Amino acid sequence: MTQTAVPTEVHPFRFFPVQVARTERLSPNFLRVTFTGDELAHFGDNGWDQRIKLIPPLPGSGFAHLPTGPDWYTRWRELPDEQRNPIRTYTIRDVRAADREIDVDMVLHGVNGPASRWAVAAVPGSEMTVLGPNAEFGGPSGGIDFHPPAGTRRILLVGDETAVPAIASILSRLPDDTVGHALLEVPEGADQLAITAPPGFTVTWLPRDGEAHGVKVIPAVHEVATRLIGDCVPAATTTLEDVDIDEGILWEVPDETVSAPDGFYAWLAGEAGVIKTLRRHLVAECGVDRRSVAFMGYWRLGRAES
Ligand SMILES: Cc1cc2nc3c(=O)[nH]c(=O)nc-3n(C[C@H](O)[C@H](O)[C@H](O)COP(=O)(O)OP(=O)(O)OC[C@H]3O[C@@H](n4cnc5c(N)ncnc54)[C@H](O)[C@@H]3O)c2cc1C
Repeated sequence: MTQTAVPTEVHPFRFFPVQVARTERLSPNFLRVTFTGDELAHFGDNGWDQRIKLIPPLPGSGFAHLPTGPDWYTRWRELPDEQRNPIRTYTIRDVRAADREIDVDMVLHGVNGPASRWAVAAVPGSEMTVLGPNAEFGGPSGGIDFHPPAGTRRILLVGDETAVPAIASILSRLPDDTVGHALLEVPEGADQLAITAPPGFTVTWLPRDGEAHGVKVIPAVHEVATRLIGDCVPAATTTLEDVDIDEGILWEVPDETVSAPDGFYAWLAGEAGVIKTLRRHLVAECGVDRRSVAFMGYWRLGRAES
């Protein structure tokens, strides 16, 4: 009797067991972690702001309790706290599948969260599990939110240090004739990284130098937005519903199939309170069409990623 092979389902995302190949301290607050692992030959390279999940090992048990299979997430949620590996969201900075390597740029914000604590201690050989795009999947994997609609002529990119990897990756892929402005608020002047951008794109680094998140980037957005969209005219009809950023997630990403109403597209990511302030400014005070702006709370001050 001949046996028929049961086809295994190919999922858009999959787990990659990896180890640290090397780390590079890019600046006082950025650590580039290069991961290696045989499975990385199958890591999808989709670019832009491709998000991934980092799953650090648990002290003592490593990844022994991390469920696998299609229902892994349901089973992970059901685990007792002490057996549930933390999961944190990051951006893929570079993929070198042929060399079985990927880079992730991690902000060192202390030892108060499992991902940052892991990064502070990372040495060659340190283990991690990455949930990332599967190169074998035949369609879009998802996890990309930079979608300038057809007809976009001017782009505004805004972010704090957690969005620097995504913005750097977006800028490196934009066509040479793209026009726009990137505003990057970082902890200090030495955190200005060497990044490439199209010649018509202005990149402004905004060191906070000990001041609160948003202090530098909020006024900068006010100034730059008027240059890119013209005078602010408050929206007469838009009702901006409130988002509870301490309970929920601020994540408003326009439908990628809609065309840019006036050629302007903005992508903003960073601390949720700052992004919420900028959302009010751009949409309510300046009348920017919501179909042209992606607002993403990447993290929330005082709250761990849940
Ligand atoms: C789509 C997406 C992409 C992202 N890409 C990156 C990336 O490429 N690189 C990167 O470094 N981060 C990135 N982030 C942000 C990252 O997920 C958060 O900073 C995350 O909270 C870090 O996890 P943790 O375990 O270190 O801290 P958590 O356990 O989540 O939080 C512990 C405490 O640390 C605080 N905290 C968290 N992040 C910061 C910070 N940056 N500065 C100061 N305090 C902080 C929290 O408010 C909380 O009080 C991304 C987030 C999203 C949603």
